[in-house]
Amino acid sequence: MLKENLTETEARIQAACKRAGRDRSAVTLIAVSKTKPISMLKEAYDLGVRVFGENKVQEIREKYEALPKDIEWHMIGHLQTNKVKYIIDKVKLIHSVDSMRLAETIEKEAEKHNRTADILLEVNVAQEASKFGLKTDEVLPFYEETMKFPHVRVRGLMTIAPFVENPENNRPIFADLHKLYVDIKEKNIDNGTVSILSMGMTNDYEVAVEEGATMVRIGTGIFGARDYSRQG
Ligand SMILES: *Cc1c(COP(=O)(O)O)cnc(C)c1O
Repeated sequence: MLKENLTETEARIQAACKRAGRDRSAVTLIAVSKTKPISMLKEAYDLGVRVFGENKVQEIREKYEALPKDIEWHMIGHLQTNKVKYIIDKVKLIHSVDSMRLAETIEKEAEKHNRTADILLEVNVAQEASKFGLKTDEVLPFYEETMKFPHVRVRGLMTIAPFVENPENNRPIFADLHKLYVDIKEKNIDNGTVSILSMGMTNDYEVAVEEGATMVRIGTGIFGARDYSRQG
């Protein structure tokens, strides 16, 4: 099942790239493995997957320990400041920064590890869709303020669009975020480090790719439906 799902996902990303006149290499597929057992991640790894997305600190720690070290782990879920220290040296990118307090904590922890942490700013484009994320008009001032952190590098923007029956309904959201992304890129405050636009999930990633996503986060479409009832 995993193999077929990956093949189909890949084909659909390729088709969306083609429709948009984009190169396939411009889009990174993040396999969102939250709630899934290590055995399943290992199976995906053996099929060539190297980029995994998780939304819980404890789960990243366990899976990080159990799986090969050439995996790129992406923290895509809401992150509490007191847990930053557990993942700062394990994740490639934190997608979900939406408060200065969190950015400050990441700065402190990254400095301790003598490294630079790459982050995305989470934007709540569709206001009511998510309880997390910056408002659109907060993004630029927030971005400018993060320049005071020598160990934090803002690489781009992320959004979680609402679940909709028809993915076309999310197209304006993706287009809005892309516009904001281009605005920030053009500011070029930090010498071109802004190059990531993380948007699109199982239900709407093709539309997101057509609107300029450089990372899509796909869980169900690769690993199948999640069973939350088995979690305590
Ligand atoms: C769970 C999750 C995804 C993947 O959702 P699917 O609909 O299963 O593809 C993507 N992004 C975030 C932030 C998530 O929490």
